[in-house]
Amino acid sequence: MDVAVFSSRAWDRVFLAAANADQRHELRFLDARLDQETAALAAGSQAVSAFVNDRLDAATLETLARLGIGLVTLRCTGFNQVDLEAAERLGIRIGRVPAYSPEAVAEHAVALMLALNRHIHRAFNRVREGNFTLDGLMGFDMHGRTAGIVGTGAIGAAVARILSGFGCRILATDPRPDPELVGRGVTYLPFAELAEASDIITLHCPLTPATRHMVDAGALARMKPGVMLINTSRGAVVDTRALIAALKAGRIGSLGLDVYEEESHLFFRDLSDSVITDDVFARLLTFPNVLITAHQGFFTREALTVIAETTIANIDRFAATGAPLHEVSVAQLAS
Ligand code: NAD
Repeated sequence: MDVAVFSSRAWDRVFLAAANADQRHELRFLDARLDQETAALAAGSQAVSAFVNDRLDAATLETLARLGIGLVTLRCTGFNQVDLEAAERLGIRIGRVPAYSPEAVAEHAVALMLALNRHIHRAFNRVREGNFTLDGLMGFDMHGRTAGIVGTGAIGAAVARILSGFGCRILATDPRPDPELVGRGVTYLPFAELAEASDIITLHCPLTPATRHMVDAGALARMKPGVMLINTSRGAVVDTRALIAALKAGRIGSLGLDVYEEESHLFFRDLSDSVITDDVFARLLTFPNVLITAHQGFFTREALTVIAETTIANIDRFAATGAPLHEVSVAQLAS
């Protein structure tokens, strides 16, 4: 099949080419982010491969359908960027990568925790400038602290395992508690109670109507003063403006973000020669206790290998049967 690969970066070319080593599919790598304006670039293809910040709204899908695209296969787990009802109406099948190295994202979340707690981002710069003082760098022992995990699916469960190793007490909230984690001593609570009791809160739920702005001003007010908050799930799970107000009030001890509500205008691009016009993001960058990475939780060799292999498997299956191997559909969402 001829596949237009949107939002492709150097690593996509390497890992997808390896997964398609016999070149049974023609992969056309495009730098452009997929949206209403760029969808026409898929002309001549039968399938499209898209990533987290591509915008698969009804208008984009309508253009793809007019071009004869039958498959959109996502190189990610989350599918909040797709209008699934429009896809179904237009007869476009949606594939995704249901799981890939949850440890990749879990380990990145824990890397943010450790870096923030021991101020590694500040210590690195300080030592390079010949300043060997320790003022302002004091952390706390992770051992004995209470960590609250919001969403204990593949990634949240991996975080629970790692933090158990540190000797943390683990609380969790999830509409579907994991019996294995309960067996390991994890206590499930409603979100409001978890928010009140945790020293560290880490978000691993998907972005859905129920989780959009789940961490709002009310939730932030319930959290312990000095709480550490980590978000590697999706930016819009947190109300960023409320977060900034809480940071300014000194209520949040530290904040680690790998995702941001408006990241599609910023992340995965070199904007170092440009002016950042997003004032909310620019304000976040001013806090010494905020550490931001640009959606790199998934970025390990192991994860990229599985993402590429699953993407090619989705295309293979669609070519053979008319449906991707790992399909997302409105019907599945309802079940
Ligand atoms: P998963 O589907 O295995 O787990 C998600 C869990 O969240 C499920 O157990 C679900 O029951 C739970 N959940 C749903 N609604 C909830 C709610 N209201 N409150 C609490 N829990 C709720 O998904 P996963 O593979 O663990 O990934 C989790 C999320 O991480 C993805 O949806 C994606 O947004 C994000 N992610 C980020 C990166 C990155 O690079 N930063 C990479 C992969 C995934």
